[in-house]
Amino acid sequence: MKAKGSTVNWKPIKKFPNTWTVKPNLLDYDKTYATFSWEEVRRELDGLPGGKGLNIAHEAIDRHATGPRRDHLAIRWLSREGSVLDFTYGDLREQSNRFANVLRGLGVGKGDRVFVLAGRIPSLYIAALGSLKNTSVFCPLFSAFGPEPVFQRLSRGDAKVLVTTERLYRQKVADMRERLPQLQHVLLVDIDEDIDPGTWSLPKRLKEAATEFTIPPTDPEDMALLHFTSGTTGMPKGAIHVHEAVLTHYVTGKYVLDFHPEDIFWCTADPGWVTGTSYGIIAPLVHGITNLIDEADFDATRWYRILEEQRVTVWYTAPTAIRRLMRLEIEPRRQYDLSHLRLIHSVGEPLNPEAVVWGEQVLGLPIHDNWWQTETGGIMIANFPSMEIRPGSMGRPLPGIEAAIVRRVNEDKDEVEVVKEPNVEGELALKPGWPSMFRGYLHEEKRYQKCFVGGWYLTGDLARRDEDGYFWFVGRADDIIKTSGHMVGPFEVESVLMEHPAVAEAAVIGKPEPLIGELVKAFVSLKPGIEPSEKLRLELLGFARSRLGSAVAPKEIEFQANLPRTRSGKIMRRLLKARELGLPEGDISALETSE
Ligand code: ATP
Ligand code: MG
Repeated sequence: MKAKGSTVNWKPIKKFPNTWTVKPNLLDYDKTYATFSWEEVRRELDGLPGGKGLNIAHEAIDRHATGPRRDHLAIRWLSREGSVLDFTYGDLREQSNRFANVLRGLGVGKGDRVFVLAGRIPSLYIAALGSLKNTSVFCPLFSAFGPEPVFQRLSRGDAKVLVTTERLYRQKVADMRERLPQLQHVLLVDIDEDIDPGTWSLPKRLKEAATEFTIPPTDPEDMALLHFTSGTTGMPKGAIHVHEAVLTHYVTGKYVLDFHPEDIFWCTADPGWVTGTSYGIIAPLVHGITNLIDEADFDATRWYRILEEQRVTVWYTAPTAIRRLMRLEIEPRRQYDLSHLRLIHSVGEPLNPEAVVWGEQVLGLPIHDNWWQTETGGIMIANFPSMEIRPGSMGRPLPGIEAAIVRRVNEDKDEVEVVKEPNVEGELALKPGWPSMFRGYLHEEKRYQKCFVGGWYLTGDLARRDEDGYFWFVGRADDIIKTSGHMVGPFEVESVLMEHPAVAEAAVIGKPEPLIGELVKAFVSLKPGIEPSEKLRLELLGFARSRLGSAVAPKEIEFQANLPRTRSGKIMRRLLKARELGLPEGDISALETSE
């Protein structure tokens, strides 16, 4: 199918500004792409002493803690209330060693699942690193999940250990403990005495634990992380990742996030989903830089203040947060000094071109979109600092990653063909074999196998590739709307609606209609202070029609103050659709709810 082409012509944004005091690590994309080898990346990492394998926590902590960066600030933690806690690489080494010793003391070993259910508190980070050192598997959970989603993941993920707070334990786990026979140890981070055998005080155990720990031999293929997907399209899947993934974390830190030794990096994602672990914990530490963690949730003023006061240089956030900032009438550069900021990246959902340009105009820097999934373990397609940005495009594939647009030859056959012509929509596919590729969906082997067809990993996303190799997101395969013989990607329609000054966010679905197949329907939330009205609805319908043409423009628009979204901030179109059609809502364990 031939794409209709972008409806809006956004001007490209030139590569990194000449005010930069550092040179991007990736200066010549084409050359690096052509000569790239994962073996060379492997050589830039340390490996365990004595050739005993590759362990993420060694690369992230010990190699710095035993070298010149021992006293460098590794993590700066900002509490909700305003206090600050600093950890050097040396501190993190000692604390993660203690945690690894606690696990060992409890008989927890290789491959055992250590879940953490907590907000962004220091214990979470120590537990993640200590579990990796112990060759156990780190499995993060959003603290805001209700009891049922927590139970589901603990049970499906074979949790042997759970690290959490007393409050979360009592609220969400205690009542189900009997239904979790594998869960042998609960370590509570905020009690001084054990509750009962099996419900321990973590501080007490940490105090008693030795500060030295030798990481056991770790095969790069040993399971390291278990991440549940966001649940945007259905029941979350448990994606298995191995220690070798650290190669992707490292190389994307180098080329995409462009880490330099003195950087202060802030990833706003919660470790409850993959970005918050791959980039909120691992990548910055592997690079030996300072990783900022804010315990609090989104708050525009707080965020701008943090960017200023902490002198953040590289900022990784998400479209949902950017859209929230865009809604406000704040002129951040008048009120805050953002001059330390060098690079802003975004992931998780399509980034509307409007947002990229807003970044440039309002923050002084364009926003660099990049694309990846829980399954890919790390960034796969990106707008690299040294490349021209084409607003609305996800960018180009990471060196070491072969991406293509493919078409299924025949639904029943195990075959796909690569679409060679540019600007044609099809499924986004990756050549398997990159280090952070998921190694399975836990307990769902068949489902895993189904992702690989004809030598490609099929991502479930639709996209197109332009003449210069930039990839453009069209929509998730599940969300594509078939209307009067056209295929409409919701992203394009949503982006146009968002260009209207009254619109804060938009979500577009296909609503079955006998004559035309599906009708394009948009749900729209408005900027603060703007009231829904029939006049505005008609204006928006006309606005969209004039830009998109009547075949693609929404036929129906409904105002909705809050669009349903996952905990990781993604709009759940499937839920809007189910509600519209009066169908069952399906798995909503990941739905964000106000507590
Ligand atoms: P589930 O698989 O459970 O339905 P999910 O796909 O939302 O949930 P994640 O792995 O967290 O779970 O999200 C990956 C998906 O997010 C991608 O497949 C894509 O649809 C979307 N996404 C991520 N980054 C981008 C981006 N830059 N542009 C467009 N879409 C993106
Ligand atoms: Mg997915």
